[in-house]
Parts: sequence; structure tokens; C-alpha cells
Amino acid sequence: MSLKTALALCAACLSLSPLPGVASEPASIVFTAAEQAYLDRVQSVKMCVDPDWEPFERINEQGRHEGIGADLVQLVAQRVGLRIELLPVRTWDESLAAAKAGRCQLMSFLNQSPERDRWLNFTAPVFTDPNIIVTREEHAFVGDLLGLSGESVALPRGTMVEERIRKDFPNLRVILTGSEPEAVSLVSERRADLTVRSLIVAAYAIRKEGLFNLKIAGQIPAYTNQLRIGVVKDEPLLRDILDKGVRTVTPQEREAIANRHVAIKVEQHTDYSLLWKSLAVAAFVLAVVIYSNRKLSALNRELERLSVTDKLTGLFNRMKLDEVLESEIQRSQRFGQPFSLILLDLDHFKLVNDCHGHQAGDQVLLEVARLLQRHTRETDLAGRWGGEEFMVVCPHTDEAGARVLAEDLRRVFELNEFPVVRQKTASFGVATYRPDDQAKDIVARADAALYRAKDLGRNRVEWQ
Ligand code: GH3
Ligand code: MG
Ligand code: MG
Repeated sequence: MSLKTALALCAACLSLSPLPGVASEPASIVFTAAEQAYLDRVQSVKMCVDPDWEPFERINEQGRHEGIGADLVQLVAQRVGLRIELLPVRTWDESLAAAKAGRCQLMSFLNQSPERDRWLNFTAPVFTDPNIIVTREEHAFVGDLLGLSGESVALPRGTMVEERIRKDFPNLRVILTGSEPEAVSLVSERRADLTVRSLIVAAYAIRKEGLFNLKIAGQIPAYTNQLRIGVVKDEPLLRDILDKGVRTVTPQEREAIANRHVAIKVEQHTDYSLLWKSLAVAAFVLAVVIYSNRKLSALNRELERLSVTDKLTGLFNRMKLDEVLESEIQRSQRFGQPFSLILLDLDHFKLVNDCHGHQAGDQVLLEVARLLQRHTRETDLAGRWGGEEFMVVCPHTDEAGARVLAEDLRRVFELNEFPVVRQKTASFGVATYRPDDQAKDIVARADAALYRAKDLGRNRVEWQ
């Protein structure tokens, strides 16, 4: 069925934090005599831009410069009374070469960097935006890029991020791309492990290209984009003039301009599933835009939550369980308190998939998650250990207590009516912390007990 719909999310909630040193109200500009003489003498200046950096800037099919950066530069030009002409190019590399060759006097919208400081002077920032790490869904949370070894990172050639990543993270293998969308696509297509992009640009590219297998896996606070106008070194007066213009741009004006370009449009759907996917992506983009509105620490908290959650069941994932086991061991060592763990594995689960399909299997796993959440104490921590195996970590619980809980759970499973298959049981292995245990020791005992429960006929609790 063809469904035509247009969804416009005017990201009214996007309010960018004020930039330091930028006035909150437009002020009339006072130029020095030299600056005024420059403005009287020079009719117009040539500008080089990135032709493919949506939604920041691009050169459209009609050859016009558009985007957040384009509007901001025009506003500044208007304020200072200068006419700016676009130098048409096809690539960012071409723009860099043209500016270095003196064929344009200014670069519209870019980060400052040591390499660029050698040939450009910069105005105050016109716009700020955090840089984030984009990977595929299955990749773990990235706390520190230095912790990775040999992973490949796709980066557009000639960007500030490329320059800094090479210097700061020699442990990563850089794969250069010709454009922004290409960097994100390489990750989606498994030809690179990750990319580091601006939050706004990444969200835009993910939405536009429909790259549903990507996620935000971390951020690099030191890499926040501070986008400025760059002016070639032999035009110092031009920089001073533009800088005065930049400082008159109010937070409200920046916000209104950004809102115009992060609005999302989804059009012409052929079926409902596509609509839902598009809505999901639109929601994702909106969520991402809202993120940009908050402090980076809030972004961090959310990323951490996602990184410890099992995608199918919403329970904690194995990474989180490992972490909890470590901290429980430390607590037991320090305070001498007991703790136990229960490992459970569904009986003959393969049959569910074989007879009713994988989706039915997934529904059963979801029901297991619901049962575990409902029938364990608030202090217990339930997670998915892998496949159809689950773990419950029970702090302050000795062996007798853990066996009672495991037996309760066993009965809950036995009596529960599961979706599709109706009856499903599980086998349970219980183990309790012993002095000098490492995580792997206590897990190995729970595992051995679980296998004994299987051997002894399943649907039972064993301990070791
Ligand atoms: P046993 O009683 O000995 O544990 O038998 P079993 O069939 O449960 O064990 P086996 O290890 O042979 O099979 C486990 C099955 O679980 C195989 C795998 O396809 C299925 N499985 C693992 N993860 C998922 C999942 O996320 N979704 C679905 N639907 N099935 C899964
Ligand atoms: Mg099983
Ligand atoms: Mg199993």
C-alpha cells in the first residue's frame, strides 16, 4: 500500500548553549578607521565552503550555498556590510587548495587546528556541536578510544578530526573517505569499525541514508566542534571585521537558524514498515538533537545505560553482569558478606525455534525476562548471560537463600503460560561466593551445577 505522509519535526527543543564571548543582543558595530577603509575599498570577498557537509553546509543543485553555516555566514556578512561570493567547487579538498592558492579569502565554517593556524586566522566560534563515536549496534560502549587496538576508523580527508585522531590515537587505523556520508556508510557496511563525527551531521547522515544498524557508542569531550570563519593570513583586517560581526550573533539567532536545518521530513512511504522505520529514525534523530541540548555528562549516562542493556530483553547484558560480579566479590572480600548467583538455562529451547520459528523463540525469551524481573527482589540483579541462559546475582544471600529463590523461580516457570509454546521449564545452577573466588570460579561452579541439573532430568535446581 502506498502511504504518503510528511512528518515535520521542528526541533523547537534544540536550544544551543550560548557561546562564550558572544553578545546576547545584536550591537551596533564600531569599526576602526583601517577596517572602515577596507570595507569602503573592497566590494566583495570570495568564500570557499564544504560542498557536501549537510546540514552544516552544502552547494545545492542550483549552485547555491545552503545550511546552518551558510545562513550564519550570510548573517555575519550582512551585519558588517560585506558582499560574499561563493567559489564553486565539487569537493572539500578543492576548497582547501583554492584557499591556499589565494583564490578565496575566507573559509565559511570550520574548526581551528594547529595545521590550519599556519595559514588561516579564525573568528570567534559561530556554532558549537559535540563529536561522537559512531559504530554498529553490536559494538561495546567506547569509554576511551586509546583502549581499542587495531580497529579502523573512517574519516573524511582533510578534516580537523582526521588531523587530531592521527595524533591522539595512533592505535587506530585511519581509512580516508571523500565525504561525510561515505564515512558513516563504511561503518554501516562493515568496511570500518567506527567513525568520529559531529552529532548533528551523524544524525543527519544516518537518517538520510537509512543506516539502521548504527549507534552512538561514546563521545570525545575534547573534540567538541567549535565552528568558526577562517580567513587567509594575508587578510588580517578581514578577520577582525568578520569577528566583530560574529560577536553580534545572538544565541536566539543561532538557535533559529539551526532549527530551520535540523527539521526532519519523511515523505512517500511505500508501506507501513518503512513508515515505522522512518519514524523510528526520526525519533532517533530527534533524541540525538535533544542530547545536543544537554550537558555531555547526561549524554554519557545514557550511552552507558545503552551499553549495559541487552537489546532483545531489556535486561542487563553480560558486560554489566561481569561488572556486578566483580563489585560483589570486592564487597564480599571487604565486608565478609555472602553473595550467590543463579544461572538458568531454558530446557530444550532449540525445539521452540525449530517448531515455531525464531520469533516465537524471541517471545519466550521476553517472557523469561518479565518473569525474572517480577519474581526477584529489588536488590537482585537479573541479566542475560547469553542465548537462552540468564543469571541472577543475589547480594547478601547465602546458599540456602539462593536455593529457595531458585526453587521459587523454577516453579514460577513451570506454572507459567508462555506465549506460543505455553509450557516451558528451565534448569538452575546455584553457587555461593567462597573466599579467594574470582568471578570465573563462582561462575564455573554455577555452570557445573546447571549441567548436573540438565543431566539429572532438567526442570530442577542443583548447587555446588
Ligand atoms: P538444553 O535443555 O540442553 O539446554 O537444550 P537447548 O535446546 O535449550 O539447548 P541448545 O544449546 O542446544 O540450544 C539453545 C538454542 O537457543 C539454540 C539457539 O538457536 C537458541 N537461541 C539462542 N539465542 C537466541 C535468541 O536470541 N533468540 C532465539 N529465538 N533463539 C535463541
Ligand atoms: Mg537450553
Ligand atoms: Mg544453553
